Amino acid sequence: MLDLQNIRSQFPILSQTVNGKPLVYLDNAATSQKPLSVLEALEKYYRETNANVHRGIHTLSQLATEEMEASRRKIQKFINAEHDYEVIFTKGTTEGINLLAYSLSNQIKSGDEIIISYLEHHSNIVPWQMLCERTGATLKVIPMDENGILQLDFLDNNLSEKTKIVSVNQVSNALGIINPIEEIISKTRKNSNALIVIDGAQSAPHFKIDVQKMDCDFFVFSGHKMYAPMGTGILYGKEKHLEDMQPFHGGGEMIATCSFDGTTYAGLPFKFEAGTPNVGGNIALGAAVDFIESIGHEQLQNHENSLLDRAQKKLLEIEGLKIYGEKAKRTGVVSFTLENAGIASDAGMILDKLGIAVRTGHHCTQPIMAYFNIAGTIRASFAVYNSMDEIEILAEGVRKAQRMLG
Ligand SMILES: *Cc1c(COP(=O)(O)O)cnc(C)c1O
Repeated sequence: MLDLQNIRSQFPILSQTVNGKPLVYLDNAATSQKPLSVLEALEKYYRETNANVHRGIHTLSQLATEEMEASRRKIQKFINAEHDYEVIFTKGTTEGINLLAYSLSNQIKSGDEIIISYLEHHSNIVPWQMLCERTGATLKVIPMDENGILQLDFLDNNLSEKTKIVSVNQVSNALGIINPIEEIISKTRKNSNALIVIDGAQSAPHFKIDVQKMDCDFFVFSGHKMYAPMGTGILYGKEKHLEDMQPFHGGGEMIATCSFDGTTYAGLPFKFEAGTPNVGGNIALGAAVDFIESIGHEQLQNHENSLLDRAQKKLLEIEGLKIYGEKAKRTGVVSFTLENAGIASDAGMILDKLGIAVRTGHHCTQPIMAYFNIAGTIRASFAVYNSMDEIEILAEGVRKAQRMLG
C-alpha cells in the first residue's frame, strides 16, 4: 500500500487552503505539483553549482555539467533508451514535436503523407499542419468512434509507401484514453517505412516507458506533468534518425566549428541543444525521475487506477452527468459534462470556490470537442498524491454546482 500521508507531506503546496477550503488539486493533466526533492534539487543547483555548462574549465561549470549529464543518464534509464545521447533536453512536448516537424522537413516532399489521430493535443496537430504547408505533404487523421476509440482499420487502408510520419499520443490529455500504440506501431512497421512519433506527455507520468520495446522512432514528453519544473522536457530519438535530421535551432553549443565560410555541427545530443539549456530544471527533472521510481510504477498505477474507478463510479451516480470515453480504457483523467448546468466553466468556477482545482474547456483538443458537438468538458485528473477523500469532495462539489446552476 501507498503511504499517502507521507507522499502528501512531500508536496508543500497541497497543505494550503484556497478560498477558505483545503486545496483539492485535480488538474494534474495540465501540470503536476512538485515534491520537496525536486524543489530542493532546483534550489541546490542555484545555491551551490550555478554555472554555464559544457563551456567552462572552472570547477562550478564542471560540476553543473556533470550533474546535468547524470540527469540525462537517469532519463535514459527511465525510458530505457539505448544511448544517453539519444536523450535531448527540450522545453517540453510542444518544443519536441516542433523540433521534429522542422528537422524532418527536408525528408518530406509534396505527395507524402503524415498520419495523426483524432485524439491529439493541438501540439501534435499544428506543427504537422505547418510542415504540410511548407512541403505540400498531406495530413491524414485516424478517426474515432463515439467512445473515443481509434478506428485502426483506417491504417490498413491508408498506410503506404507515401506515409512518412505517424504521430500519435499514448494517452489522450482530454479524455485519458489509452491508445493502442502497440497495434498502431506494428501496423505502421508492416505497411510503410514511416517514422513513428509517440507523444508521451500523458503517459510518462503514469506508465513504465520502454522506448526500445515499444519500437518507436521518437518519444516526446514534458517534465512539468511528471513532478519536474516547468520548461523541461525530453525528445528521445533513435540514433540513426537523429543523425539524419537537420538541426532545429542554430547557435552556441550545437557547432563543431563555426566560420563565415560555413559551420559544422556538433554530435548528438548537442546538435539539438543550441544555446544555454535550463540546467537547474534539467537536473531537477532527474530528481523527479527518482521520485517516481521511489514510489514504483506498479504502486503508482494501482493507486491512480483506484482513484479513476472511484471517481467514475461516484460521478456516474449524478443524474445528467456524461463521461466522455467512458467505455474506453483510460488512465488518470475523467472528462465530463453536466446537463442543464450552463457551460463547463460555470461549474469550474463553483468548484474553485470550494477549493477544487479542475480544468474546464477544450483542453487544447478542439477537434475532439467538435466531434462530440460540445464547447468543452470538466476534467478532473489525478496524480499519486490524490486521495479517495478528494474524490468524495469532488463528487459533492459537482452535485452542488449542478444544484446551483440548474
Ligand atoms: C500537455 C500536452 C502536450 C503539450 O505539452 P507542453 O508541456 O504544453 O509543451 C502535448 N500533448 C499532450 C498529450 C499533452 O497532454
